[in-house]
Amino acid sequence: MVRRLLDSPWFYYSLAAVLAVLAIASQFEVKLPSRPVEDVSELATLREQDDINVVFLLIDTLRADRMGAYGYSRKTTPTISELASWGIRFDHVQAHSSWTKTSMASLWTGLLPRHIGVLRYPHAVSDEATMPAEIFQQAGYKTAGIFRNGWVAPNFGFAQGFDQYFRPKPSATPDRFERRSPSTHPLQGSDFDATDSAQEFVRAHAHEPFFLYVHYMDVHQYLYDIESAHFGTTLSDTYDNAIHWTDRNVSSLVATLDDHDLLTKTMIVIASDHGEAFYEHGIEGHAQNLYREVTETPLIVIPPFRLDPGIVVEHKVQNIDIWPTVFDILGLDGMPDTDGRSLLPLILAAGGQGAALPGLEDRMSTAELDQTWGRVSAEPKPIVAMVDGPFRMVHHAVAPDDPELYDRRTDATENVNVAGDHPELVARLRARAEAYLAAPPRFEAPEVELDAMRRAQLRALGYELEEPEPEEEP
Ligand SMILES: [Zn+2]
Repeated sequence: MVRRLLDSPWFYYSLAAVLAVLAIASQFEVKLPSRPVEDVSELATLREQDDINVVFLLIDTLRADRMGAYGYSRKTTPTISELASWGIRFDHVQAHSSWTKTSMASLWTGLLPRHIGVLRYPHAVSDEATMPAEIFQQAGYKTAGIFRNGWVAPNFGFAQGFDQYFRPKPSATPDRFERRSPSTHPLQGSDFDATDSAQEFVRAHAHEPFFLYVHYMDVHQYLYDIESAHFGTTLSDTYDNAIHWTDRNVSSLVATLDDHDLLTKTMIVIASDHGEAFYEHGIEGHAQNLYREVTETPLIVIPPFRLDPGIVVEHKVQNIDIWPTVFDILGLDGMPDTDGRSLLPLILAAGGQGAALPGLEDRMSTAELDQTWGRVSAEPKPIVAMVDGPFRMVHHAVAPDDPELYDRRTDATENVNVAGDHPELVARLRARAEAYLAAPPRFEAPEVELDAMRRAQLRALGYELEEPEPEEEP
């Protein structure tokens, strides 16, 4: 038996995986390296350089208010907190949906959901849209995307511009990993696999400019190493445990960048596609409504030098602003005609350099969710959330006369509908929401058919999906 085990490649494969996971566990304690201290005007010099790498870490399903880096009472994100302390943290960030595919289509293209048209289960990002990886690729960067969420798979148009775009091979998760639903068919592997693939990419391309996107999924899956189980055993606690485990993956990847002396020529961007509800509005999870618990996400930009002190931007910003900002900082021609704006003037102003904020102060943000996105045969049922100053209005396209309006100054959880107290504001926001919904898309979103395997991969994320009509036998 032992002999057979030792002869089996799986034994070595599993052993390697366990050792590597242990390595992530131990690297968590490594103190992050110090880097040159610069002030924010140093950002302007990055335009002159053509060898600045970009690492984009998308942590799926991450609520900003559950991160230590955003003031949460639990130390869920020690590494990201440290990175944010020498970088730029945006305190009020809105995602554009509470469902991965719609939200990511807007994040990447800089176009609001209705404008890029990726709203329902079969929709894909148009080939005609400009994606950030295409701009990096044209600028001579090596580009790689590593994802564990089937909603951003190549068939949905998300691979545009990537030299490599792949799911990491899932390793066997050691027994000391816990997950939320052991009885269902879970997503295979863990974010360790994504980190491992990302490290391999960094080692192979350390000598040339690269753009690396890593889409982490263990927070979505509530999966964590029991060494990260500091916070208890309720569902909500295990969400925090999974954030802590993901933070250790970030630590491990940052350590690899440091091993190759890349932290002084790499900009790291950390963001999320949506949050997660814990019964604030009667439901748990996401992809069902557009309240703050599912739309307020983090955005942290770590430049290739150490800002001391780090910068906090308090104005409201949105995920459509991410790539216009990055390309502005790097001096690359960005995407044409996005709905997003470069946040560089806000960053400079927050760092004491310049005060001109042309129209950037507390812009109104827009999110959209088709509540029947997973049921192809159902009529669309879009809702739109508009955040204007302290107010959030939720407009239901199928029930426009029943608006919801919340005032966060007196109602932090958005449970008291004050629409009746603000008729003029409601009328104005309703007109904006209706104009937004009526606008023609900039691109036609192609519809793709999913085979059984792809549907199974999406169901592994916990989504209920309607089966398409069975095809007639010829
Ligand atoms: Zn997601």
